[in-house]
Amino acid sequence: MIEAKNLTKSFGKLKALDNVSLSCNKGETISIIGPNGSGKTTFIKCVLGMVIPDGGTLHFDNREIKNGWHYREKIGYMPQIGRYPDNMTIAQIFEMILDLRQKSWDDADSELVHSLGLKSIFDKRMRTLSGGTRQKVSASLAFLFNPDVFILDEPTAGLDPLSSEVLKEKIRTEKENGKLILITSHVLSELDDLVTAVIYLQEGSLLFHKNIAQLRSDTGEEKLSRAIAVVMKNSKTQHA
Ligand code: ADP
Ligand code: MG
Repeated sequence: MIEAKNLTKSFGKLKALDNVSLSCNKGETISIIGPNGSGKTTFIKCVLGMVIPDGGTLHFDNREIKNGWHYREKIGYMPQIGRYPDNMTIAQIFEMILDLRQKSWDDADSELVHSLGLKSIFDKRMRTLSGGTRQKVSASLAFLFNPDVFILDEPTAGLDPLSSEVLKEKIRTEKENGKLILITSHVLSELDDLVTAVIYLQEGSLLFHKNIAQLRSDTGEEKLSRAIAVVMKNSKTQHA
């Protein structure tokens, strides 16, 4: 569904992505992990067409995304940092996005709007919201149009535990609907028990891409966090 081949992106001298090749398919829930600055957001933004790679190719549904934009309708994106017009109310943001997509509330999946408690604060202006509440707006927008693919950039960072749990349940439902879900995180998170595969980026390079069964059998560890720790330790000793 999403296929990257030899993807490269530099910012000046810094290689944010260095020859990354990987593919992600329908039905998978993939955790993209790696330290801060390892290229996770850059990778996602390349898929979304928000960052133009210097080299390599990207395909979405077997079509090269270069110069295309229709494929973006199939992606629900939750940015790491959502930026919204300060003076608009939450309601106005939703109305604007519905309007842009020429949809009405009746066509939309508004479950998160309700379950994250946004309805009761619909008339608050964006500039008055806390970081966590902005995250709730971003999350609810990502799920609004029932897309095939969800790309969630550090979705639980800043969310309170209860809201994290609400979002997690929503992700679980969409996973069961057979959607492709990409979730980035700089830490192992509470979402990890939903994950079917792990992509690990380090300094712009793909360190590994393994499905959970493989990861477990390679390492003999049941818990994802422990399995990843073992892979990291082994890769360090190999490179030493
Ligand atoms: P991650 O999401 O894994 O924390 P990013 O993809 O945001 O990492 O960033 C990877 C590297 O590229 C970092 O060193 C970051 O500072 C740099 N970078 C990202 N975007 C830009 C940009 N627009 N201009 C310059 N450097 C950037
Ligand atoms: Mg990031």
